Amino acid sequence: MERDNVIVIGAGVGGLTSAALLAARGLDVTVVEAAATPGGKMRQVTSGGAMVDGGPTVFTMRDVFEDLFDSCGATLSDHLTLRPASLLARHAWNEDRLDLFADRDASEAAIGNFAGAAEAKGYRRFYDEAQQIFRSLDHPFMRSQRAGPTRLAWEMGKANPSDLLTTRPFNSLWGALGDHFRDPRLRQLFGRYATYCGSSPFKCPATLMLIAHVEARGVWLVDGGMFALAKAIEGLAIRNGARFRYGERVTEILVDKGKASGVTLASGERLHARSVVCNADPAALASGRFGQAAQRAVGAIPASGRSLAAMVWTAHSKTDGFPLAHHNVFFSNDYAAEFESLGQNKLAVSPTVYVCAQDRDDLGVGPDGAERLQILVNAPAIGDGKGFTQGEIDQCRLQMLETTGRAGLLLELPASGTTLATPTDFEAMFPSTGGALYGQASHGWVASFRRPGARTKIPGLYLAGGSTHPGAGVPMAALSGGLAVDILLRDLALTSRLMQKVMPGGTSTPAATTAASA
Ligand SMILES: Cc1cc2nc3c(=O)[nH]c(=O)nc-3n(C[C@H](O)[C@H](O)[C@H](O)COP(=O)(O)OP(=O)(O)OC[C@H]3O[C@@H](n4cnc5c(N)ncnc54)[C@H](O)[C@@H]3O)c2cc1C
Repeated sequence: MERDNVIVIGAGVGGLTSAALLAARGLDVTVVEAAATPGGKMRQVTSGGAMVDGGPTVFTMRDVFEDLFDSCGATLSDHLTLRPASLLARHAWNEDRLDLFADRDASEAAIGNFAGAAEAKGYRRFYDEAQQIFRSLDHPFMRSQRAGPTRLAWEMGKANPSDLLTTRPFNSLWGALGDHFRDPRLRQLFGRYATYCGSSPFKCPATLMLIAHVEARGVWLVDGGMFALAKAIEGLAIRNGARFRYGERVTEILVDKGKASGVTLASGERLHARSVVCNADPAALASGRFGQAAQRAVGAIPASGRSLAAMVWTAHSKTDGFPLAHHNVFFSNDYAAEFESLGQNKLAVSPTVYVCAQDRDDLGVGPDGAERLQILVNAPAIGDGKGFTQGEIDQCRLQMLETTGRAGLLLELPASGTTLATPTDFEAMFPSTGGALYGQASHGWVASFRRPGARTKIPGLYLAGGSTHPGAGVPMAALSGGLAVDILLRDLALTSRLMQKVMPGGTSTPAATTAASA
């Protein structure tokens, strides 16, 4: 009997996860990806002859990927080498430095030395609160289908909407940090976690302090860089029978009698399928890039609500003057002004700069001579509008070097060995986003409930990825891929049961049987 077939549009981590899970459950899966390689934002860039991670660099929530491999009959550690990082990140404010560690007591001691005993106590309170929020929302929100606030409160196990208040949806993160820290540098450090989903700490809810806990639960260094994770999930999908078609763009999602029925490629070729999982940004659907019929699959996604984009330099070059760790943050002198500029669609005069020294190990030991670097500055998502002039880009580079230079870091960035991705470049890779890297910003308490869920308004068409519930980041996008599969299999099982009722004696597909018993 013919297997149920599924087209997955996009081989970002959400699409890869959906493909691997669906293939492992016996469905006939074809992934169509516009780029030449898997990974989407989790991509490698050639700089100075070296392959440098040009997207995510901080690997967290290892359990999400262990579960994924388990569900597909494999073991993550057989396909990916992960080393736990004891030093989470090095932070610098001009010449002041603070390291955070995986070990809570070590972080507390470092904060005590850096800012005094009261701040160390504040860190302990903050850590406990972040942990509490994470625990409250991990399963009911992050690992569950999208729900409204009332349902979420119910799922949190108490059926009392006031319990949701313990996650502090109505306080800003910046305000809540003031309850724990007096030292503005520590507020800045922990407020920066808002940018992990492209948001401002001044506008996002205090709930996002859970991201600090995600990092405190563990950060791992990935042998081969983050791109190795994309390759590992691609391999998992292929071993279970999925096919990948790279360098092919989907131009239309076919809708027949109100139901998704396949896709058209830029070449004109049509691929028919019973279900379609879209890992492209939902904004591309909403703007009609997949055709008029598919446009109604999601509601409007306003450009005004976009998360941040970034200027990302990748280089293979020498550094001096500052003992780089694997992850490093060089803070702006004026954090409020930085986010005010970004909110006005401008680049910051004094930007915060993230530097990943990819070749450095946990203790900061790296190669002599040139090393692989990623340098990131937040930018507004205006890549589909006027973008930035060469003058503005040059100025941004100077300001970036000014921030890192204040801490003593000397970066050699020769034109031949350095590449830059601007919001305009990200728009070209991830259409209709303006270069926003994390979907809609998490500003205000309703933002999390407004992200599209896996199910769309068109039967047979599902969404997966970092702009979809539960949110941005590599593990979250993977969770989203899993949620799309859960719904898709449930729908197939339902259709199959209905068919059996309509046509007595009909047999269900292996996939539907699996789903029904899942
Ligand atoms: C510079 C940078 C740093 C980051 N840092 C971190 C970090 O440290 N830790 C972390 O967890 N997260 C980080 N993130 C966020 C994380 O990378 C993303 O949330 C996640 O990778 C998004 O995955 P996704 O499933 O949404 O797919 P995406 O990565 O958005 O990929 C979507 C895919 O769909 C393809 N596609 C789109 N349209 C079509 C079409 N019409 N036809 C065919 N294919 C199409 C695209 O080519 C792309 O490959 C970072 C992102 C960036 C860019």
